[in-house]
Amino acid sequence: MYDPATGRINVTDTQEACEAAARPDVDPRYVNHCVECQISYLPADTTITYVVPVRPVSADKASGRVGRGGVGFAYSGVKMDGPAPVDAILGAHMLAPFDDCGGHVNPNAGYHLHAVTDCLKTVPSADGHAPAIGIAMDGYTIHQRDAEAAADLDRCGGHTVEGIGYHYHAAEPGANAILGCHTGETSSR
Ligand SMILES: [Zn+2]
Ligand SMILES: [Zn+2]
Repeated sequence: MYDPATGRINVTDTQEACEAAARPDVDPRYVNHCVECQISYLPADTTITYVVPVRPVSADKASGRVGRGGVGFAYSGVKMDGPAPVDAILGAHMLAPFDDCGGHVNPNAGYHLHAVTDCLKTVPSADGHAPAIGIAMDGYTIHQRDAEAAADLDRCGGHTVEGIGYHYHAAEPGANAILGCHTGETSSR
């Protein structure tokens, strides 16, 4: 991702380059590039609407993986997205690096997270359990990663604890999956 003659890193540094590089059929000019899209490239009135059950309903069967609607959202409203598309990234030899909070910008999704670090606002849990950091698309709360809880979690990253009920814990940042799937009904699977 750099010019071996000059050592200069190949990076998209205009809105036009960001859009050409971030689309699924990457513009061949931007293969072997770092993709750097800025929040300022998005329209100022950009909004995102989440459709989430107020009362979570357990599904007959957990989803196979996180659907197109993403994992959920942080209390700030930032989207927690599904895994970064590693095949597409490796196929085009390009990378849209994350900031320290596990997020980056693309022209369609805006700013979104692929990992949870320690940046998010937290809400304390009953009995000193790991604090909540957001809401999953099936309405269950998502809590901070917790080493003690980790051994107890189902395939999606959830478990039931007295006083809190069923909830998820975010996976470690290197997992490329904040949650593995959803166990409750979502509006998009
Ligand atoms: Zn992304
Ligand atoms: Zn827990």
